[in-house]
Amino acid sequence: MCGVFGAFSKDGNSVLEDVYLGLYALQHRGQETAGIAWTDLFGNKNVHAMRGSGLVHTALDQKALSSNTANVAIGHVRYSTAGGSDFSNAQPIIANYARGSVAIAHNGNITNATAIRNFLENRGAIFQSTGDTETILHLMAHQSHKPPLDALVGALRLLRGAYSLAVLLGNRLIAARDPWGFRPLIIGQRGEVTYVASESCALDIVGAEIIRDVKPGEILVIDEKGMKSLKIPVTPRRKHLCAFEYVYFARPDSLIDGRSVYGVRKALGCYLAKSSPCGKADMATGLPDSGTISAIGYAEASELPYEKVIVRNRYVGRTFIEPTQRVRDLGVKIKLNPIGKMIDGKRIVVVDDSIVRGTTVQRVISMIRDSGADEVHVRIASPPVRFPCYYGIDTPTCEELAAARMDTETLCRNIGADSLAYISVEDMTEAIGLPAPDLCTACFTGEYLQGGEDYEMDL
Ligand code: SF4
Repeated sequence: MCGVFGAFSKDGNSVLEDVYLGLYALQHRGQETAGIAWTDLFGNKNVHAMRGSGLVHTALDQKALSSNTANVAIGHVRYSTAGGSDFSNAQPIIANYARGSVAIAHNGNITNATAIRNFLENRGAIFQSTGDTETILHLMAHQSHKPPLDALVGALRLLRGAYSLAVLLGNRLIAARDPWGFRPLIIGQRGEVTYVASESCALDIVGAEIIRDVKPGEILVIDEKGMKSLKIPVTPRRKHLCAFEYVYFARPDSLIDGRSVYGVRKALGCYLAKSSPCGKADMATGLPDSGTISAIGYAEASELPYEKVIVRNRYVGRTFIEPTQRVRDLGVKIKLNPIGKMIDGKRIVVVDDSIVRGTTVQRVISMIRDSGADEVHVRIASPPVRFPCYYGIDTPTCEELAAARMDTETLCRNIGADSLAYISVEDMTEAIGLPAPDLCTACFTGEYLQGGEDYEMDL
């Protein structure tokens, strides 16, 4: 999972600070590296980049950034999926090729990247990184007889899988979303500045109004003449917007494809309360912060009091997106602490967004029991995660996924709960409020892109 942000100013005012702020708002989508690329203010169109490791404020030197001026820029926050956590995979990636300068910031995972890479390497291409994004640059360079925009469209035509892109082509800002619409991408406007962002919360921070989501399969070209829409020449069988964006990844103050993430999470809790009530409980609580909103929905629909009895240390990152098991194990202890006095002698419903490896929920239940709880019932606001994700989320292999290894009863015993229940795929879809054929639910159902829509490539 990564975050992208871009800005184009028609009046020539510098957008570098806006991009920096936009990345701040997208920090939850990646904490390994952050970067910004920009082209010189009009005229000379050289591309420049600043990239670093860690959170935005440590990765990027704000003072050095403010000594530059650019009317068009893109930014990226990275959590490694394809290519691993090597710094050479930090984005935006930039290049000056035969037809001009280009910079790319990518969220998603290109499923046929290895096939493309092998094809190009056999023809002499030398890749600088291990990531999938660089294949786009090489595919463009491979078509150097075409103008850069045509070469980009030609490259995107060959890609399979997930990509939401912010691209600099000379002095133009391009937003592009794969034909399946896996990852969100939204356009905003403030005065003479047009923005593209992974999530609408990043538009809020720069004071921009939402214009609309970038449509699946759409390329938006933003320049001094305005905004032009083109189509990626690929016809998908159906859309595949990631259901997990609503369940966990996106910020609750974002809107994705017109649906409030907060509203969806609360609805997930309500559906869960109806399908898996827990009448004898004294209270409902959520695992902070991922389960909090669904827990409020669960409590409301069950007419139970909602109590915040697990406190999170705000200065520790999210365990699920830490790259090693050791850090994840430590992270739970460092991060969460139950309030013993509230818990002692109580029957508690604990709501969380999902169970991936099961480590966090197991440790939390153990802490709650140690604090004197009489009963601990676990309710999960997504269906069992049984399959890995190939579309830009670093879920573990099947062997590591708790729900792939154990049935619900065994997992319930394993995590030490008195009962365990999940929302169904159907109820999750209803809570999201989009038609089922528009959503990707592959990590719950195993229904991935099929055949030619997935790995096949015709160069
Ligand atoms: S497999 Fe799961 S996490 Fe991956 S895109 Fe589909 S719904 Fe999202």
